[in-house]
Amino acid sequence: MLYYSTSKNSVPVNFKEAVIQGLAPDKGLYFPEQIPLFSPHFLEHFKSYSKEELAFEIISPYVGDCIPKDVLMGICAETVNFDFPLVPITESIYSLELFHGPTLAFKDVGARFLSRCLQYFCQEDKQKTTILVATSGDTGGAVANSFLQVENTQVVILYPSQKVSEIQELQLTTLGHNILALEVKGDFDDCQRMVKTAFADTALNQHMILSSANSINIARWLSQQFYYAFAMQQWQHDGPPVFAVPSGNFGNICAGILARLSGLPTDIFVAACNSNDAFYDYYVSGTYHAKPSIATISNAMDVGNPSNIPRLFEMYKQDYASIKKNVFAASIDEASTKATLQKVFEQEQYILDPHGAVAYAGLEKYLALHPNKKGIILETAHPIKFKPSVEPLIHQAIEVPVSVQHLFGAEKKNICIEANDDELKVILYSL
Ligand SMILES: *Cc1c(COP(=O)(O)O)cnc(C)c1O
Repeated sequence: MLYYSTSKNSVPVNFKEAVIQGLAPDKGLYFPEQIPLFSPHFLEHFKSYSKEELAFEIISPYVGDCIPKDVLMGICAETVNFDFPLVPITESIYSLELFHGPTLAFKDVGARFLSRCLQYFCQEDKQKTTILVATSGDTGGAVANSFLQVENTQVVILYPSQKVSEIQELQLTTLGHNILALEVKGDFDDCQRMVKTAFADTALNQHMILSSANSINIARWLSQQFYYAFAMQQWQHDGPPVFAVPSGNFGNICAGILARLSGLPTDIFVAACNSNDAFYDYYVSGTYHAKPSIATISNAMDVGNPSNIPRLFEMYKQDYASIKKNVFAASIDEASTKATLQKVFEQEQYILDPHGAVAYAGLEKYLALHPNKKGIILETAHPIKFKPSVEPLIHQAIEVPVSVQHLFGAEKKNICIEANDDELKVILYSL
């Protein structure tokens, strides 16, 4: 399998090169030359596959011969070695809980798959790679946790000061070793811009091997298809489910759509946005414009210019009519997010996190128009990660999962920097 750039100005590369490069040289996103189709045999039998077999089947055509089959099977097994339960909330709404991994968010899947692929490639090439990543909260923890003490890798994480929760900050600043956390005096868009500028800097890239762990990296992006298949394994109803995805950079939803294009029998996708709703505006008007980001309680979705939008356009061949037919957009403001979180707790005793609440409200909008359908929300993070916004809404303390209790009391290590491209450059040269 080869990958071309969505900007169409770079030579196509294989899986390994695309993973190592992250972003294509022309700043486009890598995209597979063909979208593989699941075989009829697979579609008939996938419900009886183990999680690692399922992951392996899905990812194999994308990896090609860049990783030997037995190694890839091992990588898949480590990537998905926790639970992905599909839990009913109401008659027609289910929650796919993606927060049972080490950092309590769905990003653990993509980050674990990426780190293990990169580890294999670094070993093969005997080279050191620096992973540079901007985070709005959850990416940082997932990436740091996945790369901790992985040989030949150095991780540099940029996160916006005061805009991530306490647990999130602890998850990325307490690890040490090969993990460097940079607290940026700016917002997530600043962090993302600084990272993009570093990747575009020719001299810097000659000096060191820089790789991205953002959802633009194909290893992170493509492996997110796994849990849509896990959801389908657990789906017991006749009609296909609608998937409602809380969307920020649109990596998660684009992976689901990709799996659907390969033949996974799902219904359409709901792109649930918070007030950062550039995609919703496009859905309504047919023209796409990035917007400045706005802070909300679902802060992992506070993205004014979602980086995976070119992939969404590519999947539907830039055709607005096809996008409208296959994706439903919803814009959920802060008041509805809070009201939904409260309502679902009071009526169903289910604690959503703010991102899950946006997805839930988006799915309700779609189901109101299609009352005979049923759907699945992607519950992308454990509510404890957003404790300060959730607890006052449900008037109750959220239990801290045992797996993160050690963070409290651990020593925080980070470096504070201005939202300035050159400051980042100086740090990178000093590594
Ligand atoms: C990253 C994140 C999102 C947004 O996912 P994208 O792939 O960027 O659209 C949603 N919810 C949570 C909890 C996240 O961490």
